[in-house]
Amino acid sequence: MLHDERLLPADPGTRRIARRLYEHVRALPIVSPHGHVHPSVLADDGFLGDPAFELVTSDHYLLRMLYSQGVPLEQLGVGPSDGSPAETDGRAIWRRFAEHYNLFRATPSKLWLDFTFAEVFGVDEPLQGDTADAIYDHVTAQLAEDAFRPRALYDRFRMEFLATTDGALDPLEPHARLRASAWRGRVVPTFRPDDVIDPGRPGFHAKLGQLAELTGEDTTMWPGYLAAIRERRRAFIAAGATASDHGHPTAATADLSPKEAEALFARVTADPADDEDAELFRGQMLVELAAMSLEDGLVLQLHAGSWRGHNPSLTARFGSDRGADIPKAMNYVRELKPLLDRFGNEPELTIIVYTLDESTYSRELAPLAGHYPALRLGPPWWFHDSPEGIRRFRQLVTETAGFANTVGFNDDARSLLTIPARHDLVRRVDAGFLAGLVVEQRLEEDEAVEVAEDLAYRLARRAFRVDG
Ligand SMILES: [Zn+2]
Repeated sequence: MLHDERLLPADPGTRRIARRLYEHVRALPIVSPHGHVHPSVLADDGFLGDPAFELVTSDHYLLRMLYSQGVPLEQLGVGPSDGSPAETDGRAIWRRFAEHYNLFRATPSKLWLDFTFAEVFGVDEPLQGDTADAIYDHVTAQLAEDAFRPRALYDRFRMEFLATTDGALDPLEPHARLRASAWRGRVVPTFRPDDVIDPGRPGFHAKLGQLAELTGEDTTMWPGYLAAIRERRRAFIAAGATASDHGHPTAATADLSPKEAEALFARVTADPADDEDAELFRGQMLVELAAMSLEDGLVLQLHAGSWRGHNPSLTARFGSDRGADIPKAMNYVRELKPLLDRFGNEPELTIIVYTLDESTYSRELAPLAGHYPALRLGPPWWFHDSPEGIRRFRQLVTETAGFANTVGFNDDARSLLTIPARHDLVRRVDAGFLAGLVVEQRLEEDEAVEVAEDLAYRLARRAFRVDG
């Protein structure tokens, strides 16, 4: 089913070198510093359940494409917010998905799923309408076996580190259970406080009330609010966190005087904040958070540039993360300047920036990451962690940022089942890129081996402070 040399370069000489490089990294352990597997999956270690909900309904990459071709989300098991009915039969969802699987030809979603079907479940026929039921039965039966429980999969996938993504108000209860258990897998939270930092989000004021309850700080006042954020960071660090993550609409940063910042806080907490103040506040908070990172050591990740809920009627009907998010044009050189003026030269601080705007790679992000000691460039994200996206990334940034200013790979996976597929894909594509450099005599093969191992393994451990 899967060709052993898939995704390697077409030219036979380059392919042979790529093949050798790939063999060096194919079985390296997986470090997964950013993703969306829920920690209770590993804390409970229960059976994963229906494959349709695990692999289709929860994957907004799939929902997006199916919706674009006229498949109603209700038929894929997504329930409308008004309570109107949606498909609840996993087999029916699976069949519908299989009938439309040809829509995913030449997309990374199909590469990931084909790997998952073949390598994780041993499926030996292609998914399509007439094989849907047999594959559904086969996968469902396997998911009911102990060998397919989450902790067994974590071990089988040779995972070493898995960071989840958790809101600032999350009590981190599954993480507490994981730490208390005798299991030796390393699953840690990531501090993702957008809910209590972005005045533009629904429920912002109520969330500040909950933040006060959780921390005992007075979050109606600027100093108390900052103290509450510091307190939550301490709780996350105690649960094993090594990083924070911030999903902002832009990369705007601001460095106001304490007096101005306090006045801004008073304005955004007096209902409702206008758009300009909300943007300024998010920007000010990125600088406050960088200052906190310098104190407590959390790596600061910025995922900026997604226009969330671009399709308002779909978002109103089904909520967020349903495939209606669209990349925006970005300007990091201007927007990160206040942050970099203050902290760009700090060697003890790590700020990792991700983009959905590929036009910024060579013009902005590689030059910035290739200069400022505090700045690193995150791997291709979301629309771009695909074979072509990874190749474009390497081509556009390597000559200016080198390899050491990048941070390895993030799988950003929704399901534990697809994590190895994503790491295998990037290992193959990077091996192909490096083989091209070897053929052109821009890199010796032994150097390429070292770089391939860095990209697949060592850079992520270092950037995300896996070893402390
Ligand atoms: Zn993510």
